[in-house]
Amino acid sequence: MTQEIGEFAALGLHPNVLAAISAVGYEEPSPIQAQSIPVILAGHDMIGQAQTGTGKTAAFALPILSRIDPAKREPQALILAPTRELALQVATAFETYAKQMPGLSVVAVYGGAPMGPQLKALRQGAQVIVATPGRLCDHLRRDDKLLATVQQLVLDEADEMLKLGFMDDLEVIFEALPESRQSVLFSATLPPSIRSIAERHLRNPQHVKIAAKTQTVARIEQAHLMVHADQKTGAVLRLLEVEEFDALIAFVRTKQATLDLASALEAKGYKAAALNGDIAQNQRERVIESLKDGRLDIVVATDVAARGIDVPRITHVFNVDMPYDPESYVHRIGRTGRAGRDGRALLLVTPRERRMLQVIERVTGQKVAEVRLPNAQQVLDARIKKLTSAIAPLVVEAEANYGSLLDRLIADIGCSPRALAAALLQKATNGQALNLADVEREQPLVPGFQAREPRERRERDGGERGGERGEYRERRAPMPLAEGRVRCRTALGTRDGIAAKNLLGAILNEGGIAREAIGRIQIRETFSLIELPEEGLDRLLGKLKDTRVAGKQLKLRRYRED
Ligand code: ADP
Ligand code: MG
Repeated sequence: MTQEIGEFAALGLHPNVLAAISAVGYEEPSPIQAQSIPVILAGHDMIGQAQTGTGKTAAFALPILSRIDPAKREPQALILAPTRELALQVATAFETYAKQMPGLSVVAVYGGAPMGPQLKALRQGAQVIVATPGRLCDHLRRDDKLLATVQQLVLDEADEMLKLGFMDDLEVIFEALPESRQSVLFSATLPPSIRSIAERHLRNPQHVKIAAKTQTVARIEQAHLMVHADQKTGAVLRLLEVEEFDALIAFVRTKQATLDLASALEAKGYKAAALNGDIAQNQRERVIESLKDGRLDIVVATDVAARGIDVPRITHVFNVDMPYDPESYVHRIGRTGRAGRDGRALLLVTPRERRMLQVIERVTGQKVAEVRLPNAQQVLDARIKKLTSAIAPLVVEAEANYGSLLDRLIADIGCSPRALAAALLQKATNGQALNLADVEREQPLVPGFQAREPRERRERDGGERGGERGEYRERRAPMPLAEGRVRCRTALGTRDGIAAKNLLGAILNEGGIAREAIGRIQIRETFSLIELPEEGLDRLLGKLKDTRVAGKQLKLRRYRED
């Protein structure tokens, strides 16, 4: 086991926790994990600073679980998260990492759900409480001894919590915790308000900061594409159709993901293989040799397994999962552009990873331009181009070799030369879609990000332009509203630094409604739309009257569609 989970084993975590990480498929700790875990295990207070997507949850969950006594059925750790969504994510992560710890239970405490079941779970002795501050205060008002046994406290995304106005609730919670507890605070930024909390409530905290150093990446053309996590495989397959690559390396985070993506690629006929820490060293070397000599064109790898790969044929690096930090991004994309050649690097970015993208841009000092998924017309053009370049070199010799056979087939079948050529094409292309309607049909619409295009442009391009018609038409059609929901609008958008999670967090916490009651959220540059229940809308908007998101007035209004 030690070998499988590499450096994790050296950090001093409990064997049951190590076993769970190994099952999840993490190969090595991310930088924030490597630095925080020993500090937290040693019982120190800590301030951790790192961007989204760097693995902060495991950075505190693993050492905390290692220090909990599952035999004691009382709250031992409290994690505060800014929103219900994040609280649920953290609670799920704890459950995953505690899979091998019998008797350990986790309770999530958040607004918009009845208090009864949460209270019951608390009374039954859950050792880990993951809570949003507002709802936890409601519980404390009924039972001020609730947190009396808590030995470890984590404030996750502390800056977001303050932005959402939880300062006063936090003070109430600090009051209810034993003085002797350990306190850990994670935040992407450390504004004065956070420093002041740390000064008042943490004892000699150690600072762990994953700093972003400047690095340069010459000769590598970089681009990014916005996708939702579950659309990544589809996006990769579509991108591969139009990218002209020689050899390509795709980076993912887990062993399982290397296997899944490699087999999806093989199923589409690519010469692809997985490379991860479970694969024996000599087999890994064989994979790299095959990539060098062209028996393989795509390798799907984790960061650890790809270390040191130097294959000049690599023209493309796909960052399918976000790297933990800008340094590993620079390492990854450095697999291409070898020996002074040009390379191309593509980064898939999910909504919550936008900030990491900005950090990467800052650190590399280069803009990572946004690209869109190729549309059906572009895919078709690429297929025809490939077919043409496969056939063109053959025509001269082929005619000499097969010319008389053709004459005979035409006579035997009694068809025209054109009909015969078409039949041969069909056989040669294995039924691959080679006209627009068929390509459109096989390209499922990837919802969400494509809809971010400005309205005028969509209208202009919709309708007439043959190629983009299918996609654009589908994009343009307004999403039907679920029954009983209405759209509301705010003048805040990406320009104001808003992401869907901020909006959602604010509405869940301050509006006190359930996540299920909220429909689609669309964030545009200068405004955002969100689907809310029609019933009780005025009351809800009343509650949100003074809500601020990212420091600005939300001013949510019902949106009348024409
Ligand atoms: P943050 O809180 O810093 O935004 P998360 O803790 O949510 O980041 O982690 C982001 C993603 O990275 C999650 O999907 C998580 O499962 C994954 N992850 C975390 N640590 C590791 C690791 N050591 N190896 C592989 N994947 C990891
Ligand atoms: Mg997090």
